[in-house]
Amino acid sequence: MKVIKFGGTSVGSADSIKKVLHIIENSLSKSKDIMIVCSAMATVTNNLLQAGMYAKDGDETAYLEIVHKIERVHLNAIHNLLPLKIQSITIAQIKTLLNQLEDILQGIHLLHEFSPKSQDLVSSFGERMSCHILTNVLKEAKINAEFVDARQLIKTDANFTNARVDFELTNQNLKKFAKQPGKIPVITGFIASTTMDNQTTTLGRGGSDYTAAIVAAAINASLIEIWTDVNGVMTADPKLVKKAFTIPNLGYYEAMELSHFGAKIIYTPTLYPAFKHKIPLQVKNTFSPKHPGTLVTHESVASPFMIKGISSIDSVDMLLIEGATMAGVPGVLGRIFTALAKRNISVILVTQASSEYSICVIVNAMNGISGAEAINSEFQDEIGANKINKVRRQNELSILSIIGENMHKNSGIAGKLYASLGKNGINIVAIAQGSSELNISTVIEKRQLSKALNVIHEAFFTAKLNTLNLFMVGTGLVGSTLLKQIHATSAQLLKDKRLKINLIALANSRKMLFDINGISFPTWLDKLSLSKKISNISQFIKNMQELNLPNAVFIDCTNNKEIVRHYPQILTANISIATPNKIANSSAYPKYKILRHLADKQQVKFMYETNVGAGLPVISTLQNLLLSGDSILKIEGVLSGTLSYIFNNFNHRKKFSAIIKEAKDKGYTEPDPRDDLSGVDVARKILILAREVGAKINLSDVQLESLLPVSCQKAKTVTEFFLELEKYDPVFEKRRLAAEKKNKVLRYIAKYENGIASVSVVMVDNLHPFYTLSGSDNIIAFTSKRYKERPLVIQGPGAGSEVTASGVFADIIAISSYLKN
Ligand code: ADP
Ligand code: ASP
Ligand code: MG
Repeated sequence: MKVIKFGGTSVGSADSIKKVLHIIENSLSKSKDIMIVCSAMATVTNNLLQAGMYAKDGDETAYLEIVHKIERVHLNAIHNLLPLKIQSITIAQIKTLLNQLEDILQGIHLLHEFSPKSQDLVSSFGERMSCHILTNVLKEAKINAEFVDARQLIKTDANFTNARVDFELTNQNLKKFAKQPGKIPVITGFIASTTMDNQTTTLGRGGSDYTAAIVAAAINASLIEIWTDVNGVMTADPKLVKKAFTIPNLGYYEAMELSHFGAKIIYTPTLYPAFKHKIPLQVKNTFSPKHPGTLVTHESVASPFMIKGISSIDSVDMLLIEGATMAGVPGVLGRIFTALAKRNISVILVTQASSEYSICVIVNAMNGISGAEAINSEFQDEIGANKINKVRRQNELSILSIIGENMHKNSGIAGKLYASLGKNGINIVAIAQGSSELNISTVIEKRQLSKALNVIHEAFFTAKLNTLNLFMVGTGLVGSTLLKQIHATSAQLLKDKRLKINLIALANSRKMLFDINGISFPTWLDKLSLSKKISNISQFIKNMQELNLPNAVFIDCTNNKEIVRHYPQILTANISIATPNKIANSSAYPKYKILRHLADKQQVKFMYETNVGAGLPVISTLQNLLLSGDSILKIEGVLSGTLSYIFNNFNHRKKFSAIIKEAKDKGYTEPDPRDDLSGVDVARKILILAREVGAKINLSDVQLESLLPVSCQKAKTVTEFFLELEKYDPVFEKRRLAAEKKNKVLRYIAKYENGIASVSVVMVDNLHPFYTLSGSDNIIAFTSKRYKERPLVIQGPGAGSEVTASGVFADIIAISSYLKN
């Protein structure tokens, strides 16, 4: 079950209600299990309360004018949304409610009293009217919607305007209600009623979000969606900071802090039931429904910035309690809190000077005067005895808070905050670090707030974040090792390089998985196995294209031919490629060429360092030599770890076939060693290097000496192959002896020189750089104009998942710095 809540702007006009209808239809196309919660049309709650104030003040014309305005807004929406027949039913519902409202306002007018209780009754009309309209719009679209007055379900105490929920009864009611399936309820947000006597109450301004969370928690919903008028929770209120941008993920605690300190995008109490029941909360934009918005969950996802967001409360009062002998008065803070709580005044912040001679309490501006009175009366004896001074109230103040998980770990944050404020001439009136260590708050003059917010946003968020969005196929040894390596380094990359790596999609030969918010690295395997999407490479690429994410990189950790066929399409879609897959680069020359052309044209990268020598910097070195004006005269290399091992260990003590067996037992060969002995893989590698220096040749042009006698090729099994190979031991031994006689050794060398690429067994003497090669190392020697006397040699392990993955990883990092520019 999903609970979907629409805010005031989302239902603020006929046009936006049409958008809401689309969102609901879209949701229903995926699952019928939804409940809808809806706010009053934008500004209607304010208007209702204003009408009440006018009524109380005796201004009948003014309050009636507001009632008419409210009527116009609703009727206008009805006219634009519904066909005539349904219009009259809906208009009748609205008119009935407006008549009741007028009667109540008249009562207020007569009594000159607008108590919190009547404020709640008056403001309850907003949600009741909007929900009637939305229900009828849905019905008209053939959705089996049902108007639900939350006052029958959500029960509270009698703390009018900010009532506390009686969860026991409310949960019972909601559970019972949810048992009647078949209808899509449209529940009035914000309003409730007392357990005692069903008097109308409200959950506090902005309370519709809370309604959604209360409903979701009671019925164990899997998601709460809050649809509003901005792209999720942003780094600051976009109305105040133009450069604010969406925070894709937030932890509940961070969201709580942001909203506690003024970000009204989520009404703070909403987060408690969501947190307690671990229900994720997605904040989305009704006016841009494709935007992913913000996902609030129990885990805080690392962000590349020092802080997550900035929020502010624009009107607060500071109450200063001072006195030379205050340190001697016991329990001062406790008494202050109790005195304020008795008047229902909540304390936003407290700061205590180290001298203990003064305490500052920050409260909402509308509670400033009453708060000061409360404290003065609590301490009247001490004030009388001159131990404590009368409360000093300072108004026209604002609070600016910076919020983030890592506040306590990062001591530079506070310094940066104060330095930026100081440099811009913004005076700090008071400072408080919340006990949660998730925020640092400063009190500043209200007139400075806008400037301060923008200055602080600039200081913490302007350094550009570089995000790479990865789409990866292949989760075998190399693929899974790569994921492990990225996970292990991601925090460091974020910190040092401001690089955030998002794994958006993953596929192996069985399943595929997409998550626009990023697949978490530690759990990819479970998530992928649980995915319901069957692997399909065309679909994978189509989805990847449709997402159209910036800085996208396709990683192919397979040796699959089919995937390579899609490379041109991927590059054309402005997506870079990093791959150890050699097939593309050793395919027919025109296909090879087109990939370079497309990458250049689309200004993306095609990276394949691991095609030769795994993680060894072979290709990049070659490219750098060429780029810097050198020209290559000869390339020589032992390019296969297996064949390197075989010849490095071939001596008078061992037969050729025995060494191959040994290599196989050590896991150095392919499951069928013939795949290594054929030399084709080595031929592909020298072809790739030759093409790198401009050779327009194909695999068939490489002169290849296979180590595989014809009869061995024909053997049906690996065992049969070994038996057959033994017959050739004398042939190999003869070649070895011939070399030994000349004080030389045998090496299986790939070479490119004078336009000719070849792969063959060669005798080398002790002056040759390959003479001393040992183990299963790869070695590559570039002889160039600059490296003529002695070649430039690169040597090291040229196979294995760790080094190959790290080579692909290096390619990914190289792509990030390229895309950044
Ligand atoms: P609704 O009527 O949909 O509940 P609200 O007006 O209550 O919408 O909340 C959305 C508004 O919250 C936005 O229009 C924006 O001005 C404000 N806001 C304040 N802080 C933030 C923030 N950090 N991120 C996004 N919006 C914010
Ligand atoms: N309509 C109510 C208000 O304006 C509740 C809400 O919008 O969430 O406060
Ligand atoms: Mg709201």
